Amino acid sequence: TASQEAEKRGWHLYLVGGAVRDLLLAETETGTLMINDIDLVVDGFHKTASVGAGVELAKALQEIYKNARLEIHGAFQTAALLWHKDPELNSLWVDIATSRTEFYPYPAANPEVEASSIRQDLYRRDFTINAMALRLTSPRAGELLDFFGGFLDLQAKQIRILHANSFIEDPTRIYRGVRFAVRFGFEIEKRTEEYIHYAINSGVYDRTSQKNSKTPALQTRLKTELKYILLAPYWQSALKLLDNLGALQCIHPTLKLDSELCRQLNLLERCLGRFDRKQTLSNWQIRLEALIGYLKPEYRAKVAKNLQLADDSIARLKNLSHTQAEIITLLPTFDHPSQTVDLLKKYDLPTLILIALQSSRKIRRKIWQYLTTWANVQPLLTGNDLKELGYKPSPKYKQILDDLLTATLDGLIKDKAEAREFLA
Ligand code: ATP
Repeated sequence: TASQEAEKRGWHLYLVGGAVRDLLLAETETGTLMINDIDLVVDGFHKTASVGAGVELAKALQEIYKNARLEIHGAFQTAALLWHKDPELNSLWVDIATSRTEFYPYPAANPEVEASSIRQDLYRRDFTINAMALRLTSPRAGELLDFFGGFLDLQAKQIRILHANSFIEDPTRIYRGVRFAVRFGFEIEKRTEEYIHYAINSGVYDRTSQKNSKTPALQTRLKTELKYILLAPYWQSALKLLDNLGALQCIHPTLKLDSELCRQLNLLERCLGRFDRKQTLSNWQIRLEALIGYLKPEYRAKVAKNLQLADDSIARLKNLSHTQAEIITLLPTFDHPSQTVDLLKKYDLPTLILIALQSSRKIRRKIWQYLTTWANVQPLLTGNDLKELGYKPSPKYKQILDDLLTATLDGLIKDKAEAREFLA
């Protein structure tokens, strides 16, 4: 339908980016092809197509597919059609843009938009395998436009950059390259790897952390790429490759995936399995916090802010060393479980997990015991039981129930009968 609507208007329409790559990969590999994300581009230089052609096409399609939601992104003159955002259902995103050049007024700036040809549109993309287009409109519908050797690179399993400055312009492409390499089992081509080293050595962190009006977009992209990596099943291999390339420096110059950090991350995986249902943060977020929490205390909040984490994450990472000091000092002095509960209940689950990762086995055991057992213990009697026992409802109820809980935790009472006796 999209190509018919474009043809009606005399425009050229192309399928571009990841969907073309995945279609070609599916031809050579076995397995089912699942595309939820389709990028379409209208050739903005062709005939009557202006910079707003993509938006016009999206509006025309929405007239036909009324169950699709239409989103228009004014600044970049792109539109998206979305079917079912419900995670339980298969969703489909169709992004429609007008071919454009994104030129960078200076490195790592936000791209600005200008109508241009499809070739230039493809040239602004990250890797050759992502820079192919499939023409959808006649004449020559079905033709593959491959100006940069993407098809050969797909066959040779290579991740290759399009131009030498690519990583300087946008360091988050390093993360994208690593993600594609690990996901497809490809190699990062030699030259491309040299360009990565060059970009990193030219002070990548200064660009990903600078506070000026142009970098928030870059920081958002870095966070998005980190998210994609940290929620993928291959996240550990991707982190290793990022570390080998020195690319963890985009997060902070001192971040290294050394054996201690690997140990903490492995421990985290084991404990995420245990506390899954109770979790307040998703797994990728807590993995990211564990990485940031591994930095020296004075860097943590700044890095969390740079990556635009939520306020509660920033606060957690900021307070982590203080909280840890308190827990490490007090826990060993406690004789009764109720004391541990009184202390640890002040903190949320992610804080306790992060501290457990960094603490001695003895402290960690206590924290696990609290999380798995003690935190779930309830007073043996309820408010109703107290009423039945003749207590008049009053603010004292809470104190009585707290006392019961303490006695239960500390093993002084084991059932309702003992609880009643205890009160008597
Ligand atoms: P995935 O299957 O992981 O979604 P994708 O290639 O579709 O892979 P997207 O992030 O959806 O990834 O990006 C769509 C296309 O936009 C890419 O194929 C690439 O051509 C281009 N692109 C995305 N991010 C960048 C970037 N930082 N620099 C240059 N081009 C990019």
